[in-house]
Amino acid sequence: MVEEKVKSIIDSLSNSASDNFTDTICLSLAKAIKADFVFVAKLNPERTIATTVSLATNNVIKENFSYHLKSTPCHNVSQGEMCCHTSQAQELYPDDQLLIDMGVVGYVGVPLKNSIDETGAILVALYLNPIESEIEVTSLFMLFSGMIIKEMEKQELIDVLYTRNKIIEESSDAIIVCDKDYKITSVNKAFTRITGYSFKEVEGESPNIFASGNHDKRFFKQMWKDITKNGTWSGEVWNKKKNGQFFPEHLSINTIYDENNNIALYVGFFIDISKKKKAEQEIYRQARFDLLTGVANRSFFMEKLSLAVTSFKKSEQSALLLMDLDLFKEVNDVHGHDFGDELLIKVSNRLQSLTKSTDIVARISGDGFAILLNNVVDDEIINNIITRIFSSFSECFIINNISIRCTLSMGVVLFQDGKDDVSTLIKKAEYATTHAKDNGRNSFSYFTQDMQNKVYRQFVLKKALSEALNNNLLTVVFQPIVSLAEEKVSKFEALVRWKNDGVWISPEEFIPIAEEFSLIKKLGEFVLGETCRQLNILKSQGYNNIQFNVNRSVYEIPLNRSENDQWLTVIEQYGLKPSDICFELTESALAPDKRNNERLFNQLKAAGCAIALDDFGTGYSSLSYLRRIPVDYIKIDKSFIQDMSTNAEENILVSTIIAMSKSLGKKTVAEGVETKEQLQQLTELGCDFIQGYYFSKPLPCEEIINFLTEFKY
Ligand code: C2E
Ligand code: CA
Ligand code: CA
Repeated sequence: MVEEKVKSIIDSLSNSASDNFTDTICLSLAKAIKADFVFVAKLNPERTIATTVSLATNNVIKENFSYHLKSTPCHNVSQGEMCCHTSQAQELYPDDQLLIDMGVVGYVGVPLKNSIDETGAILVALYLNPIESEIEVTSLFMLFSGMIIKEMEKQELIDVLYTRNKIIEESSDAIIVCDKDYKITSVNKAFTRITGYSFKEVEGESPNIFASGNHDKRFFKQMWKDITKNGTWSGEVWNKKKNGQFFPEHLSINTIYDENNNIALYVGFFIDISKKKKAEQEIYRQARFDLLTGVANRSFFMEKLSLAVTSFKKSEQSALLLMDLDLFKEVNDVHGHDFGDELLIKVSNRLQSLTKSTDIVARISGDGFAILLNNVVDDEIINNIITRIFSSFSECFIINNISIRCTLSMGVVLFQDGKDDVSTLIKKAEYATTHAKDNGRNSFSYFTQDMQNKVYRQFVLKKALSEALNNNLLTVVFQPIVSLAEEKVSKFEALVRWKNDGVWISPEEFIPIAEEFSLIKKLGEFVLGETCRQLNILKSQGYNNIQFNVNRSVYEIPLNRSENDQWLTVIEQYGLKPSDICFELTESALAPDKRNNERLFNQLKAAGCAIALDDFGTGYSSLSYLRRIPVDYIKIDKSFIQDMSTNAEENILVSTIIAMSKSLGKKTVAEGVETKEQLQQLTELGCDFIQGYYFSKPLPCEEIINFLTEFKY
């Protein structure tokens, strides 16, 4: 009898259309034991609530439900014991309302214990009439409970695996699984998204198909060494997508072992780090390269320079080239900043095109560039590069259809014995650059010790000069200028004097320092004030027709109009007329880039001041400028005068200057006239005024009156 029932249950299990095992077994058990209800219920971890997973009644599966175990026969079962009441169930459990509502009379329940003997579920049969064959029911229940629990555990495992699979499949990391022979056995969606390969396309293949060729054999050898030793490896790898594109990935590989500790699988996780790499590269670029020009920036250059210094080899030569663009500020002023920026870009490109890829070109300040020539074979190569740079910069740059010439002043320092550190090298290159600038720009200088001494002296003098200006320690002397037509002194040139620590310093030395370190305005104000004061004294003594010449540096020329008036204001303050003063300006004030200055010339002229062009012949002499600028006097530089009597060419030059000036309606002043012979020659050539030791050295103010009263031509 029981055997038949077992057989029918097993048959029904194997023939069932449903893949839900517990549903099927509940249905067939209910039928076999003629129970009104059969169900399987899972217990919560505290074993206080049961929730059915399958409930069969009248050959159908009903909806599942939960109930409290307290005061029910199921409570006993949940504690691991079988419970069986053939009748009177309601009387035995008067507080089990559900039991009463359902009209239950007979009850059989068995615990479903898992592999570690814990009761996780129960199998229950309910009868609305007394149970006929208790033995049959309990033995069938006992028989199938083991199978039910196994099946439930299996199902749970399947659920877990399904979830895990889902996690793997949906993971944003690409996952690739290989067997122990490195053949691909599985990949997930992210893998396909990143590489472009579907699973079918890579199944059974080796991961070698992704190789980019970016890594050498050593790289992979080390990787497999790590995997063999530690079971894992992680790092960055460049791989190839299906479309051939290379991409960087962060890859970690883990080895999975079987129960016998043999390698079963290799699982690789990777993410595409192209974006991260790009961002890193951008940060790298911004930190090291100049945003405007794309060449190295100052800090990166310093880094490279210090590397070059520490790895310097005596057998080779390295050199540091420092460059300033000549007159870049003026380019900016005239053409605007966008134009200036464009020029900087073009300059950078040109410098880069003239150097090797191993050399470093950098923009280290607004218009300052540097080149590090690394490990060149000999000095000759350095010379070649410098020559190439200068010949290249003799060609114009074309920006917005404007052709502009931009020259460089360059300082060069060789690594020599390799003893200099970075800051010393830079300092030396700066000295050399300054020297190149002093040489009239568009040139280069190699560093020499003399330069360093000169710079040091400049530094000391600058400090002392600044103090001297603050403490009124400068004086002014006056050199007479004689009119040949009138044969008398008609002018004096004011010349500044400075005695520093008991030593006279030449204005030739300290004027450029004053110009460079912005002391020249103060100096100029002082000289103009002293000159006006002196002229006042002369006038009070009855000398009414004497003009005083005051030197003006181009660096003193104010940029805006309101400041221009200051010169005139000072003259007025001393009760003088503008025509009492003649301003001496050198030709550099007329340089093409100094257009601005034309305005000042015109303004001074309009106010009534006289203007003399100083050191004529040494600079940007251009007839067209002379025509345009309202100059009254042309001062022929003393270098021409001094060579005149011995050098026929100089003689012709001086005579030409005089003739030209006359034709332009300007008067000429010869400077540095020391001999009678020179005086005679100049008189013959028709020069208008003579200045020089022949008549007098510059005089301290207290000697002027005496000189004037005793002067005889
Ligand atoms: P400079 O304007 O060409 O001045 C003439 C220079 O020639 C003066 O030199 C003068 O002493 C010198 N000299 C005059 N006659 C003779 C001569 O017969 N033979 C020789 N060998 N030299 C003669 P100093 O005073 O040393 O001034 C040098 C330069 O310094 C001046 O050249 C001028 O450019 C600048 N300087 C002097 N004083 C001032 C000043 O107050 N302001 C500005 N901005 N520059 C000044
Ligand atoms: Ca002068
Ligand atoms: Ca002069």
